[in-house]
Order: sequence, then C-alpha cells, then structure tokens
Amino acid sequence: MPVRAELLAVGDELLYGDILNGNAAQLGRQLADVGITVTHSGVVGDDIETIAEALRAALARADAVLLTGGLGPTQDDLTREGLARAAGVDLVRDDFLEGQLRRRFHDLRRTVPDMNYRQADLPKGADPLPNERGTAPGIRLELLGGIAYAMPGPPHEMQPMFAASVLPDLLRRAGEPAVVVHRVLHTSGMWESAVAEAMAPEVDRLVAETPAGRDRNPTIAFLASGGQTRVRISARAADRAEAYRLIAPIERFAREALGDGIYGVDDETLEGVVHRMLLERGETVAVAESLTGGLLAGRLSETPGASETFRGGIVAYVPELKDALLGANAVARGAVTAETAERMASGARDRLGATWGLATTGVAGPTESEGQAVGTLYLGLAGPAGTQTRHVQLPGDRPLVRMLSVVQALDLLRRTLAG
Ligand code: ATP
Repeated sequence: MPVRAELLAVGDELLYGDILNGNAAQLGRQLADVGITVTHSGVVGDDIETIAEALRAALARADAVLLTGGLGPTQDDLTREGLARAAGVDLVRDDFLEGQLRRRFHDLRRTVPDMNYRQADLPKGADPLPNERGTAPGIRLELLGGIAYAMPGPPHEMQPMFAASVLPDLLRRAGEPAVVVHRVLHTSGMWESAVAEAMAPEVDRLVAETPAGRDRNPTIAFLASGGQTRVRISARAADRAEAYRLIAPIERFAREALGDGIYGVDDETLEGVVHRMLLERGETVAVAESLTGGLLAGRLSETPGASETFRGGIVAYVPELKDALLGANAVARGAVTAETAERMASGARDRLGATWGLATTGVAGPTESEGQAVGTLYLGLAGPAGTQTRHVQLPGDRPLVRMLSVVQALDLLRRTLAG
C-alpha cells in the first residue's frame, strides 16, 4: 500500500526567515528516492495549538507526518505537547528516558538541569526514537488513524534518526522491504539534459513496469551540482544483495548509454579519480591558470596524497605574465585563444617538470573581453604525445563560469588519461 507522507517543520525561526527549511529538502529528496510520495510540506511556529491543528489537518489527508524541530529542553520547544494535544493524551515521564538523560549528563560531569527533564516526557502510547547525536529522543506516535514521527531540528541529529528509525518503519508500514541501497554514477563533461536524455528509455521502462497503485522500485534520479551530474539508482529489497540485483541491469544500461561520461561511483570525486589515474601510471600534472585564478590547483590539491601526482601551478592572470612565466606569446596574439591555452599548457609542463601541463584561459565575466563573449573557455593540455586544445562555451555568471571551467579542465585530463 503506498504511503502518503507530509512534512511539518516546527520553529518560529523558520517562519521569521532566520533559517531555511533544509530538513524538508533533505527529507523530501530521500523519501522520493524510495518512492514514498510527499504530498504536502508545511512550517508552523512554536505554539501548541498550531502544531496540534497542523497535525490534525495533515493526518486527515495523509498516512504519515514527519515533524522536525521543537524537541529541545526549552519552553519554546513544544512539539511533544502539540503531539499529545492532537492525540488527546497526556504527557508521561518515561523512566528509561529519564535514566538515559541522567547517564548522559553524568558522563559530561554535569547534573541534569530541571528543564531538561522535559525531554524524558512522551505522549501516552508513544515510542521513543533513539538519538545518536544529541539528548532529545525522537517520538513515534500512532494517532488519528495515522502515524507521526517527531525528530530533532538540527540536521545532524535528524538525519541519522530518519535513516535508522523512521524510514525503515515507514517502509514496513507500506509493506515494502526495508533495505534501501543507492548506487551513484558520477558524470562530467555532460549537461544534465544530455544525461537525462540518454537515460530516458530506462526511466520510461521503469515507469511502464510499475503496477498501478504501487510505488516505483527501483528509482532513477538525476542530481546536478558543482557542474557535474550524478545518476542515483535506488532500490528497496529484503536484503542488500537483492537490492544490488535490482540495481545491476540499470547500472549496465547507464554505463552503455553514458559511456566515458561516467568517471566514478558512489563517494568518488573527479579530482580523486584524476589523482588515482595519474598515480597508477606514475605520472604528474602541473597547471597554468588564467580565468580560474588558482581554483584548478586548489581542486587538484584537495585529495590526500596529492603531492604524488600534482606538482604545482602558475596563476598568470595578465597577458605579460603568461608570456614571462609560461612563454605564451599572449601579449602579441591575444590572451583568450586556443593557441595561448596550448602554449600555457606546454609552459606549465616544461617549467614545472610534469608529465602533463593543463591550462585554462577564458572570459569569466561579467563583461566580454578581447571581443570574446562571457563564458568563452579555452583549455590546453600538453602531454608526452603532444598538445591538444578544447574550446567550450559555458553558461552562467562569473562564479559559475569559473567553477565549470575547473570541471571542464579536469574532465579533459581524465578523458585523455582514459584514452
Ligand atoms: P535542540 O535540542 O537542538 O533545541 P530541537 O528539536 O528543539 O533541537 P529546534 O530548537 O527547533 O530543534 O532547532 C534547533 C536548530 O536546528 C535550529 O537552530 C536550526 O539550526 C536547526 N533546524 C531546526 N529546524 C530546521 C529545519 N527545518 N531545517 C534545517 N535546520 C533546522
């Protein structure tokens, strides 16, 4: 049976705009991943009747409500009271939670402030949800023909509680197997629309094969950020092995459809993959940067152990320095040209003593330069077998153009190393 879920964030600071409702974004994404439909998402202030009223309305529409916030020890933390009022029950002190609270504070060599005992109160009939990262337990309460889960506001406390207690419980209620496995395929050098288009037949197949009234399983999601697109394949199953069996044919399809657009899986990063490829070959890279101003060197030095493959870089922002430090001939021939990128790359390779020289030059904006449009990027790559250049027209404003330029440069090196 599909579960219809609603999200309810509690806290005056969300209403006043002091913080953004990041919890809703995280929960919405993760629920969608496993095929649970979120039909409504709301925010209420720190007021018992407002919380209770929102709960009544939510459970008149949906099967489950996921609340975040308002579980702290202070007087304005009123989610417990709101839940009890909506359910028409009293709050009762839980002996186990009280003991746990005492032990936690004892370990910190403190006595429990009187106010904190509120965190050991539960609406009658509720179950506590363990909190690995903080003092406030979560709450699971059946009420009004549905179920509510209250989790703490801080994302680092909410997230593990959601993963360990709330999601498995929701999936059980939906009659779905409770293990969820994700496989993330990272692409670079492909726009999100191109990735989605290549994957479209598989997405259509999954939609067509889902029986009416069932949640989709497995699911495919496209996540674009940092100039790269990730394809996340998620599957629910009774155990991990079975989940991987569901994922495998989709991953095979993706590898076929996206080809060398895919550079890594799961936790891998683009710079980490470049580092690993260079390491395997016993090779190094040096960079010459203009519009990226050191960002490329920054990325290449992020990976632990980077000194084994990254020799260093030259930021030559003005044409005179491109000539003086890299022999680029930029003053005479123009700074934003394929030839300059090529010479900068060769200059970096020779002068910094690396196997590969990688160079960026272009127009970050906000205005055009040398008659070239904002977003013009020339990359140069010099290696043992000669040099190559790449010309790309990037979208976006100055920060985006610079960030995308770094990704394009790393992508050129990665693809070249991959042959
Ligand atoms: P605590 O025990 O820390 O008080 P709590 O459950 O009472 O936990 P709140 O007091 O409502 O949580 O919020 C604490 C902090 O958690 C907020 O200041 C904010 O940093 C973060 N937070 C709360 N709600 C959200 C939300 N919806 N999205 C993102 N962050 C949130």
